[in-house]
Amino acid sequence: MTEPMTKNRTIRRVVATEVAVLAAAATARRRSPLLATAIVGAGALGAWAAFRPGSPLFGPVVTRGPAASPRAALTFDDGPGPSTPAILDALAEEGVRATFFVLGRQARRHPELVRRMHDEGHQVASHGYDHGILVMRGPGHVRDQLTRTEEAVADAAGTGVLTHVFRAPHGFRGPATWAAVRSAGYRMAGWTKGVFDSADPGPDVVAERSARALAPGCILLLHDADGWDPDRPRTHTVAAIPDICASAREKGLELVTLDELLA
Ligand SMILES: [Zn+2]
Repeated sequence: MTEPMTKNRTIRRVVATEVAVLAAAATARRRSPLLATAIVGAGALGAWAAFRPGSPLFGPVVTRGPAASPRAALTFDDGPGPSTPAILDALAEEGVRATFFVLGRQARRHPELVRRMHDEGHQVASHGYDHGILVMRGPGHVRDQLTRTEEAVADAAGTGVLTHVFRAPHGFRGPATWAAVRSAGYRMAGWTKGVFDSADPGPDVVAERSARALAPGCILLLHDADGWDPDRPRTHTVAAIPDICASAREKGLELVTLDELLA
């Protein structure tokens, strides 16, 4: 198992790759300006697609459900972590079922919370094992992330609990990500709207941004933990849940799991 690739390391690698692309284009320019333009265009397109969570260039990503039915989905990334019990309590209080994109590493740390998610009717999906960025990773590494997460969730809550839906860390994907994800039988999920609750902007701000985003088919991105700091709580997200659920009710929206939204 290699070290998880951080955001900064990934950006440095991509910049280095883009510099190499520009050098190749400069060489090609002497022979064919058209070829040089094509090389620069491909390099720019690749970098754009890698860091754009919903872009279809590196494989199809589900970013919303059908707008025709009055349903939306709350999704929580990076857990289970210290705030997950309070999130589960708040959702139970509201009678709402959500989708948790768990990290395999965190499922190993808190297997009882994965069991609880499943027992309380929530959908458990995969966010990879260690939250490492996949942009520059090959298919073997991506498959390893999926397999290790499957094993962690199966050990925690039984086989068949993890649904085959995968959300890449930060939504960043590379050329090898889709091939590996598809061959392992997963569909790739993004989100309609993120409310940046990960920056702890205050419960009111999280609730207000969520209220604005909620609409038929919306997949709302929230966090029950932190992908890089497993001990960091998500108190603002916890505190915002009653208001988020109230906003959905006011808009006549039923909050369902991702699988139900996409069914
Ligand atoms: Zn994440």
